[in-house]
Amino acid sequence: MSVAGAASAVGILGEMPKVAAAVPKAESELGRVKIRDVKTASVRLTYYDAHLVKVFTDSGLYGLGEAYRGSGTLDWIKTIKEEVIGEDPLQVDMLFHKMMEAGSGADARSGTLTGAIAGIESAILDLVGKILSVPVYVLLGGKFRDKLLIYHDTGSPDTVEVGPWVEEAVRSRDKYGFKSMKFDLNPFRGERWNRTLSTVDMKIWLKILEAIRKELGPDFPLAVDLHWKYNTRDALKFIQMTEHLNLWFMEDPIPPENADALARITRATKVPICTGENLYTRHTWRPFIEQQACDIIQPDVQKCGGLLETKRIADWADLYYMPMACHNLCSPVGTVASGHACAAIRSFITLESDSVELEYWSDIIKREGPFYKDGYLEVSDKAGFGIELDEKVCRKHLADYSGFFE
Ligand SMILES: [Mg+2]
Repeated sequence: MSVAGAASAVGILGEMPKVAAAVPKAESELGRVKIRDVKTASVRLTYYDAHLVKVFTDSGLYGLGEAYRGSGTLDWIKTIKEEVIGEDPLQVDMLFHKMMEAGSGADARSGTLTGAIAGIESAILDLVGKILSVPVYVLLGGKFRDKLLIYHDTGSPDTVEVGPWVEEAVRSRDKYGFKSMKFDLNPFRGERWNRTLSTVDMKIWLKILEAIRKELGPDFPLAVDLHWKYNTRDALKFIQMTEHLNLWFMEDPIPPENADALARITRATKVPICTGENLYTRHTWRPFIEQQACDIIQPDVQKCGGLLETKRIADWADLYYMPMACHNLCSPVGTVASGHACAAIRSFITLESDSVELEYWSDIIKREGPFYKDGYLEVSDKAGFGIELDEKVCRKHLADYSGFFE
């Protein structure tokens, strides 16, 4: 052994007690903790209920997550939890695939099955973080950033008058402190089924967007959501009319299923096109990524299948240098869970904020200071997701049909 090698060996030996104290902790936990049960509590938000998920173990530790909203999700959790009970929570990805395969047939590896699996997967990841004493982003490969830019999904005034739209932009920026925002443009007139967008509506929207842009300044990140409503040609015509507005992105101009049609729009405008909140798992993302059908991907962590699946989708899209604006309409629990995925994804741009106007929204979890700080969400370095429910607030706003993890 060389002198340097001997010195190095002595160094390592000197460090052994420290190493022994730290590393074998994880090893000692392998296979020792078993999932005992999975239970839910549904808390009312503004438009829907947040389905909170707790994974209990025989060690007393638990994990907390959130499933996607919507009817059917709770039924799926009750069914699919049998796949993880008795299992070692450290084998997260295997459990994800076990749940997905067990749900096939009765469901289609999408929809509420995927939303339910995401709720259990996120709770298991929180649990694993607690078992190993690391934040969840470490389990995903580590973090690229300490805080996440949040964009506010604003209210959409039900009027063609410009004033209330500008007031909404000012409220989002000045009252809530957001540094980026998105407006949903909803149809004012016209036939519901034929996907037509009239030139009258186009001109009204353009006027509204020009006024908002004037208020916010030329460089404020301003996005627009068209909610899958229009035909390809009308959508493209309107989007091209907005090209002078330096929009951050235009979301879902046409129905969400057809990558070919969206690629046609994406290639014909300089406005960045964004889609993805209605796509499930890598498999439905495949044509959108491989055909570069959009400029920005927008997976919803709880809807697309969970944190691991979101990272897989985003890393795959990054092969084409398509960044991610993460969709989100969860309570603080799912928002923090999404935040750990966003921290661990290289191509992250922004994470959505929804329902923050609801007076008790931020109080669902215990916190010190505001939930968002200066338009950003700070990534917690505590074990797991680093959050704890405020049981009193949750119980007060439980949905009528729900118990509290009973
Ligand atoms: Mg949307």
